[in-house]
Amino acid sequence: MRLENLYRQIIMDHYKNPRNKGLTSDPTYQSEHIKNPSCGDDITIQSKVKDGVIEDIRHDGTGCSICCSSASVLSQRLKQTTVDEALSVITAYVNMITNQPYDPSIELEDAEAYEGIKDFPARTKCATIAWKALEHTLKK
Ligand code: ZN
Repeated sequence: MRLENLYRQIIMDHYKNPRNKGLTSDPTYQSEHIKNPSCGDDITIQSKVKDGVIEDIRHDGTGCSICCSSASVLSQRLKQTTVDEALSVITAYVNMITNQPYDPSIELEDAEAYEGIKDFPARTKCATIAWKALEHTLKK
């Protein structure tokens, strides 16, 4: 199977079967309503953090397949990591998407499926909106 087909399957799987979807009533952090007017993305990201570890990540909202699936991938990848590790994974992911150098030793797992977005700058915001929203709350 060609790599890009595999990547497309990962993205569609997360879009159709989103992980950790639905908000909790007692998050540690919650993003503002983040909207991307160009394609209607409207996403909220929550996290539960205890002793520097992200115990849970929840997301909800509507949007395009890139946006919604990447929120699911984010929740799967960063759940049960430390806040420090999460921030370095987010930096690597955003740099990959925006075609900038990043540390290849950082395991992006399913998030690698979005590498091709770097060739479609108009979709950059779709792929990073959830990740930047979580980053913003974790840096507070
Ligand atoms: Zn979008």
